[in-house]
Amino acid sequence: MPRVICPACAADIEIEQEDASLFNQVRCPKCDALLEVIEESPLELEEVSEEGEEDEEGDKEEDE
Ligand SMILES: [Zn+2]
Repeated sequence: MPRVICPACAADIEIEQEDASLFNQVRCPKCDALLEVIEESPLELEEVSEEGEEDEEGDKEEDE
């Protein structure tokens, strides 16, 4: 299985080959962070915010 460093906790983790595709999301078994594959070769992950992308506050544009 491909090994990669978790960007959230720096643990050396293994993920399934089928999960190692671009933009796929996996969960770190060590810190439970949600990670997205941003690079396949070499394999690289990025932590994904789970706060929800539809935050109501940042979406209001009062443009006059
Ligand atoms: Zn982690």
